[in-house]
Amino acid sequence: MNTATLKERLLALRETFKAEEETLTELDRAIGDGDHGVNMLRGFEALPEKLDDSSMANLLKSTGMTLMSNVGGASGPLYGFSFVKMSQVAEDDINREQLVTLLNAFAEAIAQRGKVTRGEKTMLDVIDRAREAVQNGETVTLETLQSYAEDTKALEATKGRAAYFKSESIGHMDPGAQSSVYILNALIGDE
Ligand code: ADP
Ligand code: MG
Repeated sequence: MNTATLKERLLALRETFKAEEETLTELDRAIGDGDHGVNMLRGFEALPEKLDDSSMANLLKSTGMTLMSNVGGASGPLYGFSFVKMSQVAEDDINREQLVTLLNAFAEAIAQRGKVTRGEKTMLDVIDRAREAVQNGETVTLETLQSYAEDTKALEATKGRAAYFKSESIGHMDPGAQSSVYILNALIGDE
């Protein structure tokens, strides 16, 4: 995938987050404060004006800076920092090997910034499973990613606002797991 294609895919996320705003809000209402939909949409609505497509690194970096200053909540700094971290290892064409490098940076950034590991019912449960699957040469489609998000229902939250719900968080899907499905789908592409 080249810079122009990723740019298009990132810009298209604005429509995705517009369409899914209510879904994300509902998920966050159940085990959070109900702002995840509006947070994500605000970030991606700011993107067209802020993107720098002069290189893959600049595209990822400008996306990260925009998300950091526009999304808000816990998720804004996490996604923002991750895109900045990915920009530091980016090359101008994303092939399979480069995709693994980017997803490693993504998962590491969330783990580090969120002080989180897999199984705590956060976005990392989708991001790190996607990283692992791509690394193992598996095909990761939107449906694959969605199944990872569905799997967070069974988990008890131990990080973020959802952790206040303790065992009552079980049975609900993590909102950040759902938003990361869309972001990963844009990064992974069709191949
Ligand atoms: P807030 O919780 O501040 O209202 P959002 O609603 O925008 O922020 O984002 C909530 C999502 O952020 C959660 O569903 C979860 O996936 C993610 N999240 C929260 N805290 C952490 C953390 N420490 N590590 C990783 N992800 C986290
Ligand atoms: Mg919230």
